[in-house]
Amino acid sequence: MESIKTELVVLGAGPGGYAAAFYAADKGKKVLLVEMDKQLGGVCLTRGCIPSKALLHATKMITEARDSVHRGITFGEPKIDLDKLRAWKNSVVEKLAGGVTSLAKLRGVTVLQGRGYFEDSKTLRVETADGQKFVNYEAAIIAVGSKSAMPKAFDLGNPRIMTSREALEVPDVPEKLLIVGGGYIGMELGTVYAALGSKVVVVEALGSILTGADADLIRPVQRYAEKAFQEVRVKTKVVSMSTVGKQIKVVMEADGKKTEELYDRVLVSVGRVPNHADLGLENTKITKDERGFIKVNEKQQTNDPALYAIGDVTGGVLLAHKASREARLAVDAITGDYESLDKYIIPAVVFTDPEIAWCGLTETEAKQKGITVKVARFPWGASGRAQTFDSPDGLTKLIIDPATERVLGAGIVGHGAGELISELVFAIEMGATAYDLAASIHPHPTLSETIMECAEVFYGNATHTFTRKEAPRREG
Ligand code: FAD
Repeated sequence: MESIKTELVVLGAGPGGYAAAFYAADKGKKVLLVEMDKQLGGVCLTRGCIPSKALLHATKMITEARDSVHRGITFGEPKIDLDKLRAWKNSVVEKLAGGVTSLAKLRGVTVLQGRGYFEDSKTLRVETADGQKFVNYEAAIIAVGSKSAMPKAFDLGNPRIMTSREALEVPDVPEKLLIVGGGYIGMELGTVYAALGSKVVVVEALGSILTGADADLIRPVQRYAEKAFQEVRVKTKVVSMSTVGKQIKVVMEADGKKTEELYDRVLVSVGRVPNHADLGLENTKITKDERGFIKVNEKQQTNDPALYAIGDVTGGVLLAHKASREARLAVDAITGDYESLDKYIIPAVVFTDPEIAWCGLTETEAKQKGITVKVARFPWGASGRAQTFDSPDGLTKLIIDPATERVLGAGIVGHGAGELISELVFAIEMGATAYDLAASIHPHPTLSETIMECAEVFYGNATHTFTRKEAPRREG
């Protein structure tokens, strides 16, 4: 029975955990990173963000090729070799996971492969291939992440009922694929499978897909999905599933009426749950919220003073960059460098076709909270670059405080929205005004010009649109 002493132990090597371990090592701490998977990188790198974006990129080629016909370029029907597609996607993951391992080595972070369990607030037991090890530490950061929720009624043990993890392995291209849940994971994977040739039906219990984003940002994706998928059904609930031969019989309910349909595969993407079963949290003073996420303060500190928690396991927005930011907050708190910030801005990106990205205050939130804002919109039909991308269906919007002219929020839907949003995160973080955005020269022809012109819309003088409005008129 080996015992290990360290200053900091980080449990879980996802974008929260490895970011915390690296940052702490950079600050001179002796760090042990415990991960039960063979590869480092967590859900994001091994079965989330990266493999999904690799598949989206590969399958985008198919839709791009098809869409080229009206531009005078015609390709033949694609031949899809799933083994090769999978191998390429896996090679991307392996390359990046290998990179994380090398970076750990370079920093002197010790990696221990095994499953961690808290014996008490000061001791972590790790089950490794070489037996149990007991780790004593000054502080621990819990970064064990989350996993797909699988309601009992759907959990038949039938491999044709998949979570995102199995769907990302693309076991085959089912003729009929049902996606339960129209959140970003369902919509992104629906985009992949529809491009590969599946007839995709998305069923969403709420009144809209992609809730959280403003309705005007969702519309172009809704239009795309209505064309590319067989159907998108909102206000529809899946009640039960059963196995019928090689298919899944699905009972759904909408408007009080029940229907039955057969599918070749079903993807259940109805949310994520914290990953702390069998972690020994009951042996610590850690408390959880009503949904089971670990409760933390603004320093990411749990109710147990030596234990910090970050990322998906603490709830809120379940995104990789939120986990990585919380990693730094926790490490700064542990090293005594924590500085209280205003609430930080967490951008969200949905990598559908087209992409949606937003940050800061949304228009919906402003309405709900009764915050007075001006919303400026620049439609991409007026952007030269959007036309050359054959992507005129986009929109850039700014949510502006009319009194101070400060940018409070922003949203973009269209080609490359995920890359464009960072300028607006920066603007909000810096307290920029619409004037700052309007006065900064954006290169032509780029999609980033839509941000500048959107700010000009606020002042009523955007070059490529005409706005009849009584907005404050500032001379440029
Ligand atoms: P995780 O990445 O979940 O890592 C937790 C790690 O802890 C895992 O490696 C796990 O093996 C390990 N672990 C758990 N328990 C133990 C234990 N007892 N002992 C040892 N190790 C343990 N986010 C984005 O920002 N952008 C995206 O595009 C995006 N796409 C996604 C697509 C899909 C299909 C999915 C499922 C998620 C996606 N996400 C995306 C979300 C993102 O993956 C998560 O927000 C992120 O991985 C959370 O990071 P984390 O460090 O909190 O935990």
